[in-house]
Amino acid sequence: MKPKIAIFSLTSCEGCSLAILELEDHLLDILGAVEIVNFREGMTDRDWDIDIAFVDGAVSTPQDAKEIQHIREKSRVLVAIGACACLGGVNTLKNYQSESDYRRCVYGDMANYFPTTRAKPLSAIVKVDYELPGCPMVKEEFLEFVKCMLMGKVFRLPDSPVCVECKKRGNPCLYDQGIFCLGPVTRGGCSAICPTFGSKCEGCRGLISREGLAAAGVNIRETYNASVKDVMDDLRLYGAYQEGDLP
Ligand code: SF4
Ligand code: SF4
Ligand code: SF4
Repeated sequence: MKPKIAIFSLTSCEGCSLAILELEDHLLDILGAVEIVNFREGMTDRDWDIDIAFVDGAVSTPQDAKEIQHIREKSRVLVAIGACACLGGVNTLKNYQSESDYRRCVYGDMANYFPTTRAKPLSAIVKVDYELPGCPMVKEEFLEFVKCMLMGKVFRLPDSPVCVECKKRGNPCLYDQGIFCLGPVTRGGCSAICPTFGSKCEGCRGLISREGLAAAGVNIRETYNASVKDVMDDLRLYGAYQEGDLP
């Protein structure tokens, strides 16, 4: 029997679930191997007997919290897709402002009609089985994940920093141009797309493991002379910095 797959969106731009629709030819291959039973962006039918649920978006409202609990109850495997679902993403920027300020800024006079909470990743509310990070998630990584699930293989995210892929591509390091870049502490797997096109890495794939971070943290301070505060401030864009400090 084909595994039943569902795709849901909480508070976000829904870019990660739309990225699934953009897989085009690959999507046709996937559709031959799975049954999509619930996907608001792509179909009208709804079925709640779910093998694998993919969810983008952060938990940022009371309704999001209820919805993710319901999805968790109905799904054998829960996968967070994208920075919003894995880290809280750009939604977490509101966590650094007063509730009254951001509500007035976003909703103006209508603020009372829109309940809101601090933005959190899915893992703050329910057990998450896998995470496919990035803003948006990396489509190739999504395909690799689906293949692993279908073949019963173990799926693991890369645990080397963006710098590894950046150096393999022969990019000049942005630090040499005086630009602060989060590549040394950010999980690779995106082919270092931002520095390849001249922009600094902003940490959308989250931090590498603590072991990897221990090495990279020393590196970023000693080699690049960056302060811990600089690192933490930049990591906030996607919610990648939670609690604690660089080793
Ligand atoms: S991670 Fe980025 S692309 Fe994906 S839903 Fe969030 S804001 Fe949109
Ligand atoms: S610090 Fe940034 S620009 Fe330099 S190698 Fe690492 S990812 Fe590339
Ligand atoms: S280079 Fe950094 S910010 Fe850009 S996609 Fe990769 S992890 Fe995200």
